[in-house]
Amino acid sequence: MNTLPATNGGGTSGAAGTPGTTEARSAARRRHALGHPRFVVIGAGMAGLLSVIKLKEAGLTDFTVYEKADRLGGTWRENTYPGVACDVPSHLYSYSFAPNPEWSHVFSPGAEIQAYFEQVARSYEVARYIRYNTEVTRLEHTNGRWQVETSTGERDEADFVIAATGVLHHPSYPDIEGIDDFAGAKFHSARWDHDVPLEGARIGVVGTGSTAVQIVSSLAGTVGELHLFQRTPQWVLAMDNPPISDEDRARYREDPSAMQALRQELSATFERYFANAVVAADSPEAKMLQDLCTRNLEDNVQDPVLREKLRPNYRAACKRLIVSPNFYQAVQHPSTHLVTSGIERVEAKGVRTKDGALHELDVLVLATGFRVDRFLRPIEVIGRGGVSLDKLWADRPSAYLAVSVPELPNLFMLNGPNGPVGNFSLIDVAELQLAYIMQLVDLVCSGRCREVSAAADAAELFEEARVEAAKNTVWVTGCRSWYLDDRGVPAAWPWSFDHFRSEMLRPKIEDYELVGA
Ligand code: NAP
Repeated sequence: MNTLPATNGGGTSGAAGTPGTTEARSAARRRHALGHPRFVVIGAGMAGLLSVIKLKEAGLTDFTVYEKADRLGGTWRENTYPGVACDVPSHLYSYSFAPNPEWSHVFSPGAEIQAYFEQVARSYEVARYIRYNTEVTRLEHTNGRWQVETSTGERDEADFVIAATGVLHHPSYPDIEGIDDFAGAKFHSARWDHDVPLEGARIGVVGTGSTAVQIVSSLAGTVGELHLFQRTPQWVLAMDNPPISDEDRARYREDPSAMQALRQELSATFERYFANAVVAADSPEAKMLQDLCTRNLEDNVQDPVLREKLRPNYRAACKRLIVSPNFYQAVQHPSTHLVTSGIERVEAKGVRTKDGALHELDVLVLATGFRVDRFLRPIEVIGRGGVSLDKLWADRPSAYLAVSVPELPNLFMLNGPNGPVGNFSLIDVAELQLAYIMQLVDLVCSGRCREVSAAADAAELFEEARVEAAKNTVWVTGCRSWYLDDRGVPAAWPWSFDHFRSEMLRPKIEDYELVGA
């Protein structure tokens, strides 16, 4: 992007007014804003760190990152359950500008990913911009700037807000009768209690999403008993996770272009065989995913009764596809029990299923997913003219191109509503979005306007087109999943990743409302 002038960058805002008057004060503030715009970034996860690095790179250094926790890392800080890993290959799940020759595995474990983000933060000297243990509680747009309130009582004011608050962040707790009566240890997968001993324990896992599958694959055979409470079976794509050899790591260290080539190859493969398959339900790639998953089930589950219990009655990738090299082995371990009778209630001693059986447990793990309609919330956001985000999103969250909401000027979201959240590496998504957002920031900093936000009609047309295109995706082929909103419309990007990439190249200015132009 164009770098911004260091001082008095705008200069098109007209007469300064008489010193001391309200008009003069606001003109002075505006000049200040144009020359040294102040940013508030919310969240110090993958997207928040990216924001800091890119703002600094653009010569913009007046910003604070508010992080509610005491450590950076976002999802990788929060998810520490046994077996946690990323099912996007590590060399693709890395910042494009910070490749990591040291990845240990094709799909490296969560702790290593957390360490990677900490290392990147050190290399790019990010830490001094982060205010830990400080949650943003309220944002109000008044007099052309965002007034920021925090949980510590601290107040701030900013020209721009970048919301890097994550998607799969707020745990979803199941509404199961008697759940509070359980006498053993009980926690959500994203709140793993590492003080609870697992050795010899009888452990129940509720859920069969990516998280539960990683937990079960990791714990099977290492604990007393493992009970997997399955409400819906899953299609599983078998992908090996071999260690990356010392030789390969040495090669990547010595020749970063080899790593770059690998990243490009992984990106092209992922895009062709997964990202594009999920948005074209009838494509040969979607069929191929189905064939691979079916073969995995047929070849690797011996007992025909168990095999049928594990066989979904919907299409592969309709729910988020599970990637695992050893889930079926884990389920077939003698100390693992797949429970398919629905949960009736939880009792002090364990889980009672609808067939009357009581599954006695010491530990109950709720791998029941996340509330995916939150985004910035619970932050109270008041936009232009006093309109609240809760009102704007009364039906459901939406944003033009997943980035900007009408009437929330100079506030941009990374991995906001209806973006390519399940389609591709979220790091690539955030990098493309940030480069796009910086062009919108530039409109203000160059004096073209004072406020920029999606125009209401453009946002509406985008949403209509999105809902229409969603009809071709695999997510609507007959399953329940967190992709689907209350209408059954996938809350995700329904086009190819190439289309996303091209949309993110350059903002269509006519789709934005520029105030003070
Ligand atoms: P999830 O996919 O939303 O799965 C939640 C599971 O809990 C489902 O199996 C659901 O059953 C079950 N469940 C919810 N309420 C229940 C109830 N009352 N009774 C019984 N079962 C109940 O959550 P997740 O596994 O945490 O994964 C969320 C997303 O995080 C993934 O889709 C993925 O995008 C991401 N993730 C990624 C990785 C990675 O490696 N990159 C790893 C973990 C997670 P139903 O299927 O019947 O609804």
